[in-house]
Amino acid sequence: MISSNCRVGIVGAGTSGVYLGSLLASQGYKVDVFEKSPVPRTDGCGILLVGSGMRAVNEGNPKLCQKLLHSGTPVKNFEFRNLKGGVANSESVSYDENELPGMLIHRKAILEALLEELPQDCLHLNAPFVSATQTEKVVTATFANGETWEGDLLVGSDGIFSKVREYVVPGVEPRYLQDIVWRSVVEDNEFCTEGNFIVYMRGRGIYVNFFDLGNGYTHWGFFIEKKQTESEKGLPYPHDVGIPTEELEKVPEAARAVIKATPAEQIVCNYSYDIDPLPQLYQGRILLLGDAAHAKSPTRARGMTAGFEDALALSRHLQEGSNIDAVLASYQSERLPIVHEYQETSREISRKIGRSRKKKAA
Ligand SMILES: Cc1cc2nc3c(=O)[nH]c(=O)nc-3n(C[C@H](O)[C@H](O)[C@H](O)COP(=O)(O)OP(=O)(O)OC[C@H]3O[C@@H](n4cnc5c(N)ncnc54)[C@H](O)[C@@H]3O)c2cc1C
Repeated sequence: MISSNCRVGIVGAGTSGVYLGSLLASQGYKVDVFEKSPVPRTDGCGILLVGSGMRAVNEGNPKLCQKLLHSGTPVKNFEFRNLKGGVANSESVSYDENELPGMLIHRKAILEALLEELPQDCLHLNAPFVSATQTEKVVTATFANGETWEGDLLVGSDGIFSKVREYVVPGVEPRYLQDIVWRSVVEDNEFCTEGNFIVYMRGRGIYVNFFDLGNGYTHWGFFIEKKQTESEKGLPYPHDVGIPTEELEKVPEAARAVIKATPAEQIVCNYSYDIDPLPQLYQGRILLLGDAAHAKSPTRARGMTAGFEDALALSRHLQEGSNIDAVLASYQSERLPIVHEYQETSREISRKIGRSRKKKAA
């Protein structure tokens, strides 16, 4: 096991960074998590946490897994509808007796449960990462609030627009997936219930999904195909945030009513991006984890899951390894092929159900 004197700095208190921090702190490592926001970002909407993500939580922290099982609802059925409301396909999901289900959960509930597992003195808020330098064995990081951190391993879990990534693979630009997405969570006891995941299949330039979050809440996501103008390129979200009425009119009345019932201030909107598979996950003593390492299209719902798997794998390699350089090499050999597969297949599905299919048909 790597000595518990090992100091690990983690940039970004999203789900990947906080899960890693909680695992490493429980193993006795000296952990500091730096978050640029004044409070951890508990915004966001519903998440499908697939079975492998639940297993990654259960293996690292069974108590946390139990909390997640009580925070949402197991996915029980996928229903694919056309834009007239007709059901094209319906697939029910069954689970073996001891199998962990795929869970539909509010991101806020997930992050809050994770934060309860992270010792409070590990978390540094209002600390935007600015730069890093490293020698053979020591990394130094500086933050915009004037803090400096020095330690043995710096982990960048600072999301798709990662600044830490520049020190591992410079020059990576997020790639626009040609969709704007609006999302929210709304009270609903009728339209989408009992673990249902409803997809209005892509057509006429839109794609919409709804899923039950349990306790009378439903998540919805509304995707519109849209090119970015030159001035919009690379921006996280657009400035005009309302769903255009003519696009909303394309979905059937019952679905539209759920979206319309959502208070405007509770709707989040962003451009959809992924990144190309990276050739490496670390450089010296700086490592990338979660979306910073492998942001992907949401088509396979592997984003958050992959971050949990990363965190579990790194904590295991640190326990089993004898020196940090060997740990990082073995971590990368295990994770790189897996995250590449997630990225490539997610992008492929996104292309198949999106514009390229439309072009073929034309
Ligand atoms: C439309 C959509 C739907 C999705 N649906 C699903 C789904 O159903 N299932 C699923 O598993 N995944 C889904 N995902 C993906 C999932 O949300 C992400 O993969 C996951 O949240 C990434 O977590 P993370 O901790 O790696 O990054 P983030 O959640 O982005 O966290 C990064 C953190 O770093 C902080 N930060 C950023 N820069 C700095 C800095 N310079 N200094 C300090 N802190 C910084 C940020 O404030 C943030 O707190 C979806 C994504 C989208 C866009």
